[in-house]
Amino acid sequence: MSVPLYQLPEQQPSVWQPTSVEEAMRMKHKWGDDSVLIAGGTWLRTRWENGHSPLPQHLISLGNISSLSGLTVDSLGRIHIGPALCLADLMKNELVRQRCGLLVQACSEIAAPSVRNLASIGGNVMSRTGDLIPVLLVMDAQIICSDGQNERSIALTEWLGSPISSQNEVMTGIVVPTAAQMNAEEGSSYEFYLKVGRREAFTPSVVTVAGRLALGTDGTLASIALAAGGGSAVPARFKDLEAAAMGQPLSKELLKYLHKGVFAEFDAVADDYAGVTYRKQTAANLIVSECYKAWQKGGGADAPRS
Ligand SMILES: Cc1cc2nc3c(=O)[nH]c(=O)nc-3n(C[C@H](O)[C@H](O)[C@H](O)COP(=O)(O)OP(=O)(O)OC[C@H]3O[C@@H](n4cnc5c(N)ncnc54)[C@H](O)[C@@H]3O)c2cc1C
Repeated sequence: MSVPLYQLPEQQPSVWQPTSVEEAMRMKHKWGDDSVLIAGGTWLRTRWENGHSPLPQHLISLGNISSLSGLTVDSLGRIHIGPALCLADLMKNELVRQRCGLLVQACSEIAAPSVRNLASIGGNVMSRTGDLIPVLLVMDAQIICSDGQNERSIALTEWLGSPISSQNEVMTGIVVPTAAQMNAEEGSSYEFYLKVGRREAFTPSVVTVAGRLALGTDGTLASIALAAGGGSAVPARFKDLEAAAMGQPLSKELLKYLHKGVFAEFDAVADDYAGVTYRKQTAANLIVSECYKAWQKGGGADAPRS
């Protein structure tokens, strides 16, 4: 149940505004679990209000670290997104609109404009359950983290699979390959993002799915990336299914195989909104219906006609 702000503890936290990642990490080390890194605060606030996490004594804001809010393209053409960028700014950015259409779509289906003006892409990813994660997964995104001294780059899929450690790093960047890189050697391509909630808009996700497929002119899969998440599930790619499908022609048999595989492998979590079986079934139905559309669009001589 939600707790009104006036019922939060009388002892309000201190808000600190470091201007560098190094300074932020020094503060984090100093106060440990009695502190938290905060970007827009929209996810954290709901946690405090619902009693899922205690309100710590020190809030270390990332809002004054200018390096976390940039958006640049490197010499390889990859887009580096500053994690502190808010969803509203991402949605307005021309480069993101041109090259990361799925990301813009996923942002537009999160909360309402007022929340999107505060909510950051980094906070969405670091929550480990954000609706942007399936899209970033199928884009093969990497994340960059810093302990205040050194930076490391890690594939998002790998980072999500690693155990949760207490906050000992600041995410300093999200790197996505460009559309050109991802579509290299592709004939016909198809991508999708779908979010299912309990109503059409302003709703938490029950299931989210994303995918990117490329078909050769003979209808065989030249590349395939599929991911699912939603609710409290940690989103993940279906790497084994993707590997088995690569090089195969899209066919009824392959779609049946994908349906069974997504149902079996999606690690859904039950909550007050929906159970595990419903979520698995929904993820499998959505992914396979989108693969069917990809088949219709460019699947060679055997493709079904609409
Ligand atoms: C009304 C409402 C509706 C919502 N609807 C949705 C929805 O539909 N889909 C959805 O996905 N989310 C939803 N959210 C949750 C939230 O708005 C988003 O996930 C948002 O993108 C989180 O970003 P933030 O900047 O507010 O994160 P914060 O709350 O500031 O932080 C979230 C977590 O990330 C950590 N963090 C943030 N930035 C960094 C960084 N650079 N380095 C290290 N750690 C960091 C924080 O310590 C914290 O653990 C909703 C929230 C509200 C209030």
